[in-house]
Amino acid sequence: MTTSRLVFEVARPAGSGQPLVRSAVGPRAGILTLRRGQVKTPVFMPVGTQGTVKAMTPEDLKEIGAEIVLANTYHLYLRPGHDLISELGGLHKFMHWDRPILTDSGGFQVFSLSPLREISEDGVTFRSHLDGSKHHLTPEMAIHIQEHLGSDVMMCLDECPPYGADHGYVDNSLEMTTRWAKRCRQAVSREDQGALFGIIQGGVYPELRSKSAAAITALDFDGYALGGLSVGESKKEMLDMVAHTVALLPSDKPVYVMGVGAPEDLVECVGLGVDMFDCVLPTRNARNGMLLTSFGRVVIKNAKYARDQRPIDETCGCYTCLNYSRAYLRHLYLAREILAYRLNTWHNLYYIINLMKEMRQSILEDRFDNFKKMFYERRQDPADTGDDNGLSDQPQSHLSEIF
Ligand SMILES: [Zn+2]
Repeated sequence: MTTSRLVFEVARPAGSGQPLVRSAVGPRAGILTLRRGQVKTPVFMPVGTQGTVKAMTPEDLKEIGAEIVLANTYHLYLRPGHDLISELGGLHKFMHWDRPILTDSGGFQVFSLSPLREISEDGVTFRSHLDGSKHHLTPEMAIHIQEHLGSDVMMCLDECPPYGADHGYVDNSLEMTTRWAKRCRQAVSREDQGALFGIIQGGVYPELRSKSAAAITALDFDGYALGGLSVGESKKEMLDMVAHTVALLPSDKPVYVMGVGAPEDLVECVGLGVDMFDCVLPTRNARNGMLLTSFGRVVIKNAKYARDQRPIDETCGCYTCLNYSRAYLRHLYLAREILAYRLNTWHNLYYIINLMKEMRQSILEDRFDNFKKMFYERRQDPADTGDDNGLSDQPQSHLSEIF
């Protein structure tokens, strides 16, 4: 498999002649060169489920500093259809975004959204959550759809077993995921297509993560993703699996943890050597009025903000924080004004993208540990806790943004 459609260089610390290589597990900064541009890592990819990051134009995303977005194959396959998007010049042209796009395989949505699904060795048969129509998704079809969308990074079709699945089930499942990964690799029709990442499964069983990592890396993909995390397991289990698996992966390939995007999880996973992330959390929480800040969560509907003329976060340089008060944002949210979604999304995405930039800089300057210490110190006295407002992160942190 050629590497011309993806080059990953681990960046050097400023002023250092030495390449920054991973020693066991540890934070790293890099540059990922894809067909449509460069992506500085570690990177957070905003989720654009239906070919749009909700409430944001591509120009907004560029102003915020987004270098790559994610689109969901399942949704675009069902509506408007990959053939139509291909006919209209591909997803980049269709959605007016000329920077890289990563597409998922569609598998996760089939397993989480479809009211009916049957898994067989050949693939998965499911019913559309939109109209109940019956479809059959195979590894070959998942690649075919992603190629027609014009994806810069394609993902293999995998089975994502639910949290709590027993050892035997997860073992059989990852064996099939490996066979599907082989078929995906063979299904790539042209070498100048997008890069292709393999997905490592194995639930919360370290020995199964090892087994999956060995089998998937043997197939030599352009990058490796950890799937099946942030699906209900504890934070400790999630981080243990990340630490365990990252140490088994080749150091010259990008590592992507799927569906993780809470600020604390990003900091921990970057510390373990993860390069890429996606999650609906920043955008979905924005629409639910939960704002991410350097001092913790702000639940903007709370009465204490009714007369609060300060910005959401006085240390944030985003458009929303430079121009609007907590009192006004609370009013917009309670009045269900469209502008609330836009301004809140702008802030949350800016916060997360800026957090990634700050981490990258600290890695390049060899002071990540200090960054992490400061990150937690600032959050010792959080403004609001999400839990008592019914807006807890975890159950909604994965999936796609259909609502
Ligand atoms: Zn802001």
